[in-house]
Amino acid sequence: MEQASSDESCSSNIHLRNRQRTKDNIRSATVDVDVLDCPVCFEPLTIPIFQCDNRHMVCSSCCSKLRYIFPTCASPIGHIRCRGMETVIESVFLPCINAELGCAEKVSFLKESTHKKECSFSLCSCPVQDCNYTGSYTDLYDHYATYTHQDSMGRGVLENLMVCM
Ligand SMILES: [Zn+2]
Ligand SMILES: [Zn+2]
Ligand SMILES: [Zn+2]
Ligand SMILES: [Zn+2]
Repeated sequence: MEQASSDESCSSNIHLRNRQRTKDNIRSATVDVDVLDCPVCFEPLTIPIFQCDNRHMVCSSCCSKLRYIFPTCASPIGHIRCRGMETVIESVFLPCINAELGCAEKVSFLKESTHKKECSFSLCSCPVQDCNYTGSYTDLYDHYATYTHQDSMGRGVLENLMVCM
């Protein structure tokens, strides 16, 4: 008996969808976000998600990295989609990672990294050498425009260099 838990996570998701068809807007499920990470690379799952015959689940980039064979069970992987889990990650919305800093947005799990970059509450550090300024994405643009940084780099460069947490 191996990996009973991953079997369960794939099949029980189907029930979740059935329940959602009743348009239950008041109740919402709490999901441990760790289960939404690829069990191999621990990166947040994206669509497509694949599973082997033993229902070991991996993200698509692991699929090619593992050369389409799941290492522990040696089953081929890459031709069966884990639709149940795909449905789950499509339906999950999380509070923004900057909720504590004041962002009230609920972010789709699949768009989390996009939102993190655009979120006006993300703290970004100024990429200019010897400048220790840290502020929100928009504050940083203002900072950049107000100080003499324009001389050192154009705005497009700022976009590529700034580090947001
Ligand atoms: Zn992965
Ligand atoms: Zn397997
Ligand atoms: Zn946000
Ligand atoms: Zn600066």
